[in-house]
Amino acid sequence: MLKVHSRCDLSCDHCYVYQHADQTWRDRPVRMSPATVRAAARRIAEHAREHGLPVVHVVLHGGEPLLLGAAGLREVLTELRSAISPWTRLDLRMQTNGVLLDEELCRLLVEYGVRVGVSFDGDRAANDRHRVFAHGGSSHDHVRRALALLRQPAFRSSYAGILCTVDVHNDPDRVYEALLAESPPRVDLLLPHATWDNPPERPGPSGTPYADWLLRIHRRWVDDGRPGSIRLFEALRPGGGGTEAFGLAPADVLVVEADGSWEQVDSLKTAYHGAAGTGFDVFDQSVDEAARHPGVAVRQEGVEGLCATCRACPVVDRCGGGLYAHRWRTGTGFDNPSVYCADLLRLIDGVDAYAKPAHEWSTASPVDELLDDLATGHGSPRTVRRLADDQVAITRMLVAACREVSGPTAAWEVLADLEVTAPTAVRAVLEHPFVRPWLVHRLDPSAGSGVRAAVDPLPALAVAAAVRAGVPVTVDVPVRPDVITVPTLGSLVLPGLRGSAEVTVRPGGFRVRCGSADRTVHLDRSEPSAGWRPTRDVPVPAGRLLIEDDDPYRDCYGQPVAPGLTPSAARALGRTLAEAWQIMHRDVPAHLAALDGALRAVVPLSPDPSRPLRSATARHAFGAVAVTVHPDAETVAVLLVHEWQHAKLGAVLDRYDLVVPGQGPVIRVPWRPDPRPPEGVLQGVYAHLAVTQVWRARAAADGGSAAEHADRYLAWTRDGADALLASRSLTAAGERFVERLRHALEETRVGSR
Ligand code: SF4
Ligand code: SF4
Repeated sequence: MLKVHSRCDLSCDHCYVYQHADQTWRDRPVRMSPATVRAAARRIAEHAREHGLPVVHVVLHGGEPLLLGAAGLREVLTELRSAISPWTRLDLRMQTNGVLLDEELCRLLVEYGVRVGVSFDGDRAANDRHRVFAHGGSSHDHVRRALALLRQPAFRSSYAGILCTVDVHNDPDRVYEALLAESPPRVDLLLPHATWDNPPERPGPSGTPYADWLLRIHRRWVDDGRPGSIRLFEALRPGGGGTEAFGLAPADVLVVEADGSWEQVDSLKTAYHGAAGTGFDVFDQSVDEAARHPGVAVRQEGVEGLCATCRACPVVDRCGGGLYAHRWRTGTGFDNPSVYCADLLRLIDGVDAYAKPAHEWSTASPVDELLDDLATGHGSPRTVRRLADDQVAITRMLVAACREVSGPTAAWEVLADLEVTAPTAVRAVLEHPFVRPWLVHRLDPSAGSGVRAAVDPLPALAVAAAVRAGVPVTVDVPVRPDVITVPTLGSLVLPGLRGSAEVTVRPGGFRVRCGSADRTVHLDRSEPSAGWRPTRDVPVPAGRLLIEDDDPYRDCYGQPVAPGLTPSAARALGRTLAEAWQIMHRDVPAHLAALDGALRAVVPLSPDPSRPLRSATARHAFGAVAVTVHPDAETVAVLLVHEWQHAKLGAVLDRYDLVVPGQGPVIRVPWRPDPRPPEGVLQGVYAHLAVTQVWRARAAADGGSAAEHADRYLAWTRDGADALLASRSLTAAGERFVERLRHALEETRVGSR
């Protein structure tokens, strides 16, 4: 963190830089000199080089960094880029109050790939409670104007999010709504800085007003389907990864003050005068030397660096003792729990307990309604649409995360522009089931895909969206040897493709050039262009169902997928699928209604004579199921209903904890010889409920062996559900879900189709 300017144009009364214990700013230079910037940049570059760091994050901070002006800011950014970029990826950030942000500065930030967090405390009353000019005037309109600038397509790549300091006097609902109205990519909610010497104000009778306030927002956020990212709540979930304020991850922040001093995290300024100091500076000491300072080193020790109370705390792995500065007490130093300890405990408990059973809530929440609807066995098309929306939201977050990895690119700009001008085209691409596996693979190449190279997906996604929107653009797209795949549209086989190809989207198609390879694909002609393999589909009542035998990221099922089908095999599979649709309509129309339109692709699995009948879903590929090619449509109908249950439940589990994370025994189930973890049993029970409903309907129509199948699946489902309920491994929401599912099962037993 570089304190490039040590003064501010606002005069917030909660500011830890000017209003708290530390007053060292008074003796600092007003702005960081070019010599100090150069020395800091060299130290950072030296550290990245010596440790082979893949990325370094540099945050321009203050005071107010925009007080440097465009020319001063450019000097700093140029120095940082030229010194550090040769050695590592430089992720540049800025924290600003936004007051001075204008188009010229935005262009500069975009040019240097700087991502900007804006301090903003919510609605006008909330923001102006603290965030005012020295004359007392409101900053609200100024900051909102800055946020509107950052939302413009040209500048949106520089919009990192909003940082909001909590004040429990503010109305949490109004703050929540005001923050989301600014469409921030991320919201950070910060507890106001306080210590045991200067504890936080605690108005009202509650012993945990900060937890109460935050939990009100948490509940709104979850009930709204978690629109956008609120880092505090994501970090607090089990396995959420933590932040500087939570969790046990080693501290990885050092501050360079305006005079070149190395300092510890500057929130320490709230503890006592000089608390953040190390006695080192960038001219004489390296990053490693500064990081050996005891105040930094103790924060590398995880739980061992905490006080005895925190070490014994049941939620220490998630809380981590809270923000380091908040532990300060004269006499015992930082060897204390956070002054917010009671709030933190209550907050973690409240986040976990969010999905309470209905009898503990005044009314059923939207989440309960969603789960109750799915527990009927099928769920309504509206509920499934909601799950699909959730999945697209996750995919969007992954796209943003990939952009973080790749840095600003033309492809990102194309996607960002199309998101505004042609959102339907972008959504059609992001809904493709194999986009998310590709994004996940890019972010974590070890995540299960058969594809080796973790190439950037964004260029191909941009081309696919631009083709769909009919918008002319040119993008460099990474290719496989001799093949370029445009998700949702098809693949072009073109000998000579290597590395990266230039793709120009034009009316009715696109042109691909790479070295001497040059081919134009015309999508508007009845005959495919040479080398072009368009995706294949089959008409179903709600639209068209892809037979996906080409997209390389379909290989995400943990079992071999079939290579490209011959035209006659594809036609035969299409006929079987169309017939299976008729059968589902006959047997379980409610299941078909929940599947038709949301199931977008069927992936043929490789034939295996030892297991001729197989099917699968992949958690990252919502909207697709994989099946072995089987000629019997009655059988395929059962497989589709079965797998779609897994897909729906997987989407639910992406959002809601139905099983207590990391706990629970393995459970014996009647349908497999090996004991299963609770989530596996839940998946099995939910799938078998639907299969029971299929066979029960067939038995009601024809009797015979269908009744035996129905009885067997019913017994399996009932035993599995009862074992789950007895295991105590379900959350409150999970228990409610399984109890209602069990009820639906009994109705299946006595009912008919
Ligand atoms: S804008 Fe930030 S640095 Fe400036 S006074 Fe407010 S809190 Fe402090
Ligand atoms: S909740 Fe309290 S005791 Fe537990 S880790 Fe956090 S600060 Fe320490």
